[in-house]
Amino acid sequence: AADPVAESDPTAQALGYKADGSKVDKTKFARYTPDQKCGNCALYQGAAGSASGPCPMFGGKLVSANGWCNAYSKKA
Ligand code: SF4
Repeated sequence: AADPVAESDPTAQALGYKADGSKVDKTKFARYTPDQKCGNCALYQGAAGSASGPCPMFGGKLVSANGWCNAYSKKA
């Protein structure tokens, strides 16, 4: 199985990724809103209802369904 994304990872730092979206730095990432989660992001590749899934922004490493990063794009 793929490794989870570490918040200390340079890409995660650049994109402000947090496994718990509520911990996102809202000063730096003012576009964040609490309804935005990896689990409803267009890039999330986990199964519906899964706790974590691969994200192409992080080379297929696992992101938390409740996570968030600045590449968030609402699933259509
Ligand atoms: Fe989560 Fe989407 Fe960012 Fe990937 S691109 S870490 S699924 S918010």
